[in-house]
Amino acid sequence: MKKHIFSSLFSYAGRCVVCQKPLCGNEKDICAVCLSQLPYTNLSDHSGNILERYFWGRVPIIRASSLFTYTQGARSHLILQRLKYKHQKSLGVTFGRIMAKQLLQTSFFKGIDMIVAVPLAPDRQGRRGYNQSEQLAIGIHEITGLPVITDGIIRKVSNRTQTKLMYEERHHNVEDIFKIEKPERFYDRHILLVDDVVTSTATLTSLAKAFDGGRNTVFSVLTLAMAVSITDVPYHPYEDNEDMENQEGDVFMPEN
Ligand SMILES: [Zn+2]
Repeated sequence: MKKHIFSSLFSYAGRCVVCQKPLCGNEKDICAVCLSQLPYTNLSDHSGNILERYFWGRVPIIRASSLFTYTQGARSHLILQRLKYKHQKSLGVTFGRIMAKQLLQTSFFKGIDMIVAVPLAPDRQGRRGYNQSEQLAIGIHEITGLPVITDGIIRKVSNRTQTKLMYEERHHNVEDIFKIEKPERFYDRHILLVDDVVTSTATLTSLAKAFDGGRNTVFSVLTLAMAVSITDVPYHPYEDNEDMENQEGDVFMPEN
């Protein structure tokens, strides 16, 4: 494993995560051209947008947004893949900052009290060495100043690989996997839940419910990426898929 981390750092440092060209000037992790060409969702802070609607009836949701869309075979996959499976931890902070800078121009953060990243189960976090969603949260904190709360936000178990489960099965699969200590800390608060990619709303819904709903805790959601159709995509290699962690190479990189 150590050799793997070492070689990853060597091959990616100083190069754009998407096109692999050397970075220049004040570019960090992604070049200006690739950054301008990401498949942006443009959800911004728009009230009632498609992502927000997926939470209606499940979570007391205030706002929801996501930076770019997740489509099979797109080069933007490399961002998720390397953030999550190639140990490029710095990508999290970089993209957290990018998201926050864009949304700071809008009313997205209005009323939000704190940030909570979707936690990993201890065994998984131990293997990866970091929580990619928490890295995004740190980047958001650096721009907004909002505190990131991690203590007492517990994932009891990793959910089973979700990839082949249908929508309702996904929700059942992640029920009751989170535990929030001293939930009274969050009564009457507006919490921003942060995740790397939303492919179904199951995990975020389960986390929100763990906050002891009904005590006027409300939520907004911000993710780096979202599936084009988050309820009906049959295969998601990035949603907690253990197999991907051992995979070498850029499996979604186009040939040319
Ligand atoms: Zn590039």
